[in-house]
Amino acid sequence: MRFHTPKTFENAVAIAAAASGQTRFLAGGTDVLVQLRAAMVLPDDLIDLKHIPGVKEITRTSDGGWRIGIAVSGAELGRHAGIGADYPGVVEGMQLVGSTQVQGRATLVGNLCNGSPAADSVPAMVAAGAWVSVIGPQGVRDVKVEDIPAGPGRTTLKAGELITGITLPPRGANAGDAYLRFIPRTEMDIAVVGVAVNLRLDGDRISEARVALGAVAPKILLVPAAAQAIIGTMLDDAALDDAALDALAAAAIAASTPISDKRGTAEFRKDIVGVLVKRAARIALDRAKGATK
Ligand SMILES: Cc1cc2nc3c(=O)[nH]c(=O)nc-3n(C[C@H](O)[C@H](O)[C@H](O)COP(=O)(O)OP(=O)(O)OC[C@H]3O[C@@H](n4cnc5c(N)ncnc54)[C@H](O)[C@@H]3O)c2cc1C
Repeated sequence: MRFHTPKTFENAVAIAAAASGQTRFLAGGTDVLVQLRAAMVLPDDLIDLKHIPGVKEITRTSDGGWRIGIAVSGAELGRHAGIGADYPGVVEGMQLVGSTQVQGRATLVGNLCNGSPAADSVPAMVAAGAWVSVIGPQGVRDVKVEDIPAGPGRTTLKAGELITGITLPPRGANAGDAYLRFIPRTEMDIAVVGVAVNLRLDGDRISEARVALGAVAPKILLVPAAAQAIIGTMLDDAALDDAALDALAAAAIAASTPISDKRGTAEFRKDIVGVLVKRAARIALDRAKGATK
């Protein structure tokens, strides 16, 4: 195995593009190293991206969004007051990844590019409308986060391409997000269902919403029909009305095509997705109204 420590993204692309065997990038390594030790992946070229300047930085974009470097760990993200205030759902999704030790290394981009349908940070990034900057042999392009996963363990990135950063759009006023997952244990397990809701209020109505689901399909899903179920909803005593919540749950269940495995049957997952999406919508709503939950 050849181990590379490029100092620029262009150099990393050149190495990846010239490689003919298996290639892996190293961000936090909490997926790659586990796969290496289990002999699931034996890369010919392992390209460590952490020596590239700026990869550990979180910066404001000129329009008031956030750009997150590809080596920013879950722990660093969790300590960032600005992102925590703007996108608590993204932070809580990432902070569910692993343990304190894993948090010290694991990254958003690694979680995304590992391609797990149950990746905890990805639904909230999708719901937030986040996108990634991609560089490759053909140049640079921006890609919506929901367009990166291609199925279990696979992404839509082409040979030689890698992600150089994640951007969260400007938060704007009266908006909130939330991520919830169900696991059979209290910690350190893979999501049986993950649900993210991001919404904005205009007066007492929901004017914008995005709903994303994890672990209920071969890849993380953006479900516009679920969002439509709550857009335009009038609020009543700080609660979404029951009919809208039921429509939200029904749309999320309808979009779900889960498998049955040792963590839960397909029927169970469908039930849980309906329960969690309602709860996540209520939390996002409270946050949009300025509650501190
Ligand atoms: C004990 C333990 C518990 C865990 N618990 C959870 C959990 O609860 N929820 C969860 O979702 N995950 C969990 N994970 C999985 C893992 O920690 C996460 O997926 C993590 O976010 C991966 O990030 P990383 O930086 O370590 O990725 P890495 O291992 O460095 O990389 C992962 C993949 O991303 C690719 N990659 C990395 N950087 C780039 C880039 N810039 N461009 C293109 N591709 C890139 C690599 O080639 C590799 O295929 C757990 C892992 C462990 C070991």
